[in-house]
Amino acid sequence: METKDVVIVGSGYSGVCIAIKLKEAGINNFIILEKEDELGGTWYINTYPGAACDVQSHLYSFSFEPYDWSRTFPQQKELDDYIKYCISKYKLEPHAKVNTTVTSAVFNEQEGLWLVTTNNNEQYKTKFLVTGAGALNDPAYPEIKGMETFEGAQFHSSIWNHKFNFKDKNIAVIGSGASAIQFIPELEPQVKNLFVFQRTPNWIMPKADRPFKDWERKLFLNYPIFRKIYREGLYWGKELRVVAFVQSPFLLKIISRGVEKDVRKLVKDPELQKAMIPNYTMGCKRILLANNYYPAIIKENVKVITDGIERISKNSIFTKTGKEVSVDAIIYATGFKATKILSTIHIVGNEGKVLNDVWKENVESYLGTTVAGFPNLFIMVGPNTGVGHTSMIHIIESQAKYVMDGIKYILKNNIKSIDVKKEEQKEFNEYVQSKMKGTVWQSGGCVSWYQDDKGRNPTLWPGFTVKFRRLTRKFDASKYKLVTK
Ligand code: NAP
Repeated sequence: METKDVVIVGSGYSGVCIAIKLKEAGINNFIILEKEDELGGTWYINTYPGAACDVQSHLYSFSFEPYDWSRTFPQQKELDDYIKYCISKYKLEPHAKVNTTVTSAVFNEQEGLWLVTTNNNEQYKTKFLVTGAGALNDPAYPEIKGMETFEGAQFHSSIWNHKFNFKDKNIAVIGSGASAIQFIPELEPQVKNLFVFQRTPNWIMPKADRPFKDWERKLFLNYPIFRKIYREGLYWGKELRVVAFVQSPFLLKIISRGVEKDVRKLVKDPELQKAMIPNYTMGCKRILLANNYYPAIIKENVKVITDGIERISKNSIFTKTGKEVSVDAIIYATGFKATKILSTIHIVGNEGKVLNDVWKENVESYLGTTVAGFPNLFIMVGPNTGVGHTSMIHIIESQAKYVMDGIKYILKNNIKSIDVKKEEQKEFNEYVQSKMKGTVWQSGGCVSWYQDDKGRNPTLWPGFTVKFRRLTRKFDASKYKLVTK
């Protein structure tokens, strides 16, 4: 069994950011455990056709690590290249182990150490456990009668079947969210028929995506100040949207009237037009960006079906209105278990408390990062750290600063473990949930993956990310119970 100072779970943006910051702090005894066969996280895993990010390249990358981005909005391949570039530049490969899924982590109060176990039955003892496992990686499948009897190909959008030949096939897509609207336009030209089973329409806005001109790339490369100004401009442009999302959702209603007009212009068929216009306030579900979605769904070979699914048979989907749709493949573009953070790892803290049990009632933490009863555990992209209006990288860098500050404090002061005080966590969550009231995410009249079964929102940060950065700027030890050696 190896003993580490830090075990990091996951090698996406969060894990890589923490690893870079550990190395910068001279803490080299750490390991990154990655369940996939390559490092990179989300943008290595999600390879469906058309996969791309809806946040601009320069903002969806580390503030401290510029890159020669080819487009205004990055596509999957370039994002994967970027993360791999960071991994290589900071020499993180020797610290990482792929094909290694963390199955459990148990805290030993006497030793002040976590015992981390993997699927390969390897074990690590570590003082700090930092999870960078992401919130959107555990695929959510619908529960539809007969799914298991289907004899064609069926797969989730995040586990794309690249071997399947779509040419002239009849394909069903269940779901019409962020991923679906990106791959539907790519599939449409190849397939015979594409049946899109839509439960709820989305607000979809144009995407100002284009290749950067050569002179722009040269400017960013040769004059870092321009990149900085451009990045800041993107950040503040997005940050200002919080006013609408949090304080004045009526502004979103005004904007949505313009979007609705555009949809009516692009989609002429009255029935389809009606199906495409949401009846909830824009922003309640994530606003999607695409230029090629409406042009794709108006094509002859694409049918949007809103009747609801009754059951699946060995070669068909039956709707609730009795229609039978015969298909060769079903793609589940049904999202992720976003409110079930870390549920695939059995995490046991003080007094044998299991994180999954503690979170059965309410998924909550302190600053989206630490949880009472789970000492020396830091959760990147934890509860209520998601953002519906800007780049997650800003949140990740804020959290990384906080985690590093905490780790340095503990090491410097010879502390065995830190455990956030229950009352601090409670107060923080009361603050978060009180801020959530009145936001478009809570009052926009929709059901979204941002909410749990009870309609409570454990996923989003309900305000300005500037505030989140301010709160996580410094590790305040007075919020924690400290156990000294
Ligand atoms: P999603 O946006 O949550 O879409 C899931 C779709 O599946 C929705 O249309 C949903 O309908 C439908 N659905 C879910 N359960 C269903 C059921 N039981 N029966 C029928 N339909 C069902 O999921 P996603 O496309 O995988 O994207 C998830 C998140 O990943 C995004 O919101 C985003 O944060 C991230 N993402 C980001 C990008 C990017 O550009 N940065 C790209 C892709 C994904 P309802 O709306 O009715 O629930």
